[in-house]
Amino acid sequence: MPRPFLTPCLICEKAVIYLWTEEQAGDATNLNDAVDFEITGSYGSRFDTNIYHAVMCDDCLEEAIQKRRVSFVRSYL
Ligand SMILES: [Zn+2]
Repeated sequence: MPRPFLTPCLICEKAVIYLWTEEQAGDATNLNDAVDFEITGSYGSRFDTNIYHAVMCDDCLEEAIQKRRVSFVRSYL
């Protein structure tokens, strides 16, 4: 499924754009001032076995980190 050019932040619904097209970016998403991630439903959730994709803007991620709702795991570099 092709991704949309604009996508809203999961939290604040601010529009986020992809800097490069899928053809240019390959596997990278290259969101402008935002991150993307997968949400995996496991046993105990009504969404067990489902995997979702979501976008969060950098401002909302920064606030979530400061409020300790999101924890740093590691750098992938
Ligand atoms: Zn946001």
